[in-house]
Amino acid sequence: MGNIVAIVGRPNVGKSTLFNRLTESKEAIVDQTSGVTRDRHYGKSEWNGREFSVIDTGGYVTHSGDVFEEEIRKQVLLALDEASVILFVVDVESGITDLDEAVAHMLRKIDKPVLLAVNKVDNYERRYEANDFYRLGLGEIYPISSINGSGTGDLLDVLVEHFSEEKDREGEGIPRFAIVGRPNVGKSTLINTLIGEERNIVTPIPGTTRDSILTRYRKFSHDFYLIDTAGLRKKGKVSEDLEFYSVLRSIRAIETADVCLLLIDATRGLEGQDVNILHLIIRNRKGVVLLVNKWDLVEKQTNTLKGYEKQIREKCAPFQDFPIIFISAIHKQRVFRVLETAMEVFHNRTQKIQTAALNKYMLEAIEEHPPPSHKGKYIRIKYVSQLPTHAPSFAFYANLPQYIREPYKRFLENRMREKFRLTGVPIQIFFRKK
Ligand code: GDP
Ligand code: GDP
Repeated sequence: MGNIVAIVGRPNVGKSTLFNRLTESKEAIVDQTSGVTRDRHYGKSEWNGREFSVIDTGGYVTHSGDVFEEEIRKQVLLALDEASVILFVVDVESGITDLDEAVAHMLRKIDKPVLLAVNKVDNYERRYEANDFYRLGLGEIYPISSINGSGTGDLLDVLVEHFSEEKDREGEGIPRFAIVGRPNVGKSTLINTLIGEERNIVTPIPGTTRDSILTRYRKFSHDFYLIDTAGLRKKGKVSEDLEFYSVLRSIRAIETADVCLLLIDATRGLEGQDVNILHLIIRNRKGVVLLVNKWDLVEKQTNTLKGYEKQIREKCAPFQDFPIIFISAIHKQRVFRVLETAMEVFHNRTQKIQTAALNKYMLEAIEEHPPPSHKGKYIRIKYVSQLPTHAPSFAFYANLPQYIREPYKRFLENRMREKFRLTGVPIQIFFRKK
């Protein structure tokens, strides 16, 4: 299960500045490989070799006068549920405010690690002023400057110590599927159709939901885990429409899954928020099957399906190589295919392509279409190998790897997709010096 760090605190203390500092370098790498636009509030970070997700909860608070405090309260509450570690940021310039006190009060009552970062400690004098924040009663304080980076290393050292170790997972090798999508697309209905009576009733008490969202099933001659985010929804009306909440929930499910079944509503088509979820999946390099649900409600003329599918793929560029299935969860149409296809994508994602086959095919393709030369220097790719990572990634060894550009990388990826079974699977391609 991924480690999630939630940054909480009132506005202007420097949450987004800290978020950027934590995620920038890592994101730059991820973006380059996936072609996905950078998310301003959710990103990946790494410290001492431990990877984790960072969420800037402030990014999801709507700035509207009176409801402000209430929004922040909600945001903190939700973060408590979903995050592994809470990073509470305060501002040494303004000192302790009422809102800081209120947040601290909530945080003192929970049994999750909370780290108090006193931000804007840009110089030595401010270190003394930072001591005032011990009054918040949250234990040790971590004076940092998000702008110049001082103190952040010490903070991160402590932060990663709170992560749970990646233990050998129980049921390793058994596919984990997550059903994700916006509210009302039909997630609960699909789960009920797939597994009916066996479905676990998720207790709406904080803390008890966490482990029960992952349930193992043996159905239709398949053995798999299902990550049930739909059940979590029953948690309470307040948070229902909060984008932040659905984002958090999706992130947890996606991080836990091998393959995500992304549901969209056929009557609405693929919308911006659906694409956002797709990007979360790609950024986490998980397998994906897109399910167009409520297909029974769409008026069918000849060609509707093809045209519909084309439109979806265009909106998903550059990553378009994934299965799309038109289903009706309520009428049990093609739901069996869903499971079959999810299985296929799982196998595509876990396969190890034989080195000999990989080299034979790719080196031929490269010989036909070599990378363009750079300032008169020829670029030669000599060898390809699949790296021993969870999700497929490949290293191409070349004499001058630094001169290979994005379009050529895309060419290589497309050729690989033509030849090998990589449907539904985001892949990574690296160039290395040989
Ligand atoms: P958020 O609303 O909590 O996300 O706060 P922002 O990250 O947007 O920062 C609010 C303001 O504080 C901006 O003008 C930042 O440039 C400034 N700021 C953030 N971190 C620091 C810091 O470490 N030192 C100083 N002096 N200013 C900072
Ligand atoms: P969730 O919020 O994603 O879990 O969505 P639900 O499963 O609660 O479904 C939302 C609404 O859509 C309910 O009224 C369902 O009955 C309806 N619904 C779900 N799947 C279908 C479908 O395939 N066809 C039609 N017509 N309605 C559906």
